[in-house]
Amino acid sequence: MGVLNSMFRIGFGYDAHRLVEGERLILGGVEIDHPWGLEGHSDADILVHAVMDAILGAMGLGDIGLHFPDTDPAYKGASSLSLLEKVSERMKENGFRVNNIDATIVAEGPKLSPFFGSMGDNIARALESSPDRVNIKATTTEGMGPSGRGEGMEAYAVASLVQGS
Ligand code: MG
Repeated sequence: MGVLNSMFRIGFGYDAHRLVEGERLILGGVEIDHPWGLEGHSDADILVHAVMDAILGAMGLGDIGLHFPDTDPAYKGASSLSLLEKVSERMKENGFRVNNIDATIVAEGPKLSPFFGSMGDNIARALESSPDRVNIKATTTEGMGPSGRGEGMEAYAVASLVQGS
């Protein structure tokens, strides 16, 4: 059996968007009250984008740019959770389900920990998984780099998928 047929698969995802004044800040499908938000073609939900790339990567199916091109007007302002549901459909079609997801948001502020539960619930629901399989956390970079200077936010995610029921 080749590596690509193995039962467990791991994928990695990364995303970053610029912070701009007056945009909505949506992370993990949760709208957070903040004077600055993330700029993008869709709702710029970097957390969900990183999770989608991790899942697509684990299945060997490319990335979100391939599946949901930002040149397609259909995805303008799209809810990233609805795109995650489409990724979940692809998972089912290919016989995969989520073993677990672990993600880190990199942001200098605002304080995100009060929202981790809701973010995890939203992501688990879109994936028809359970919240205890989705771990969300955040860190600052102590003022270093683009996230530290508040130019943007980043998100990293790994997804472990299992094949079969
Ligand atoms: Mg993105």
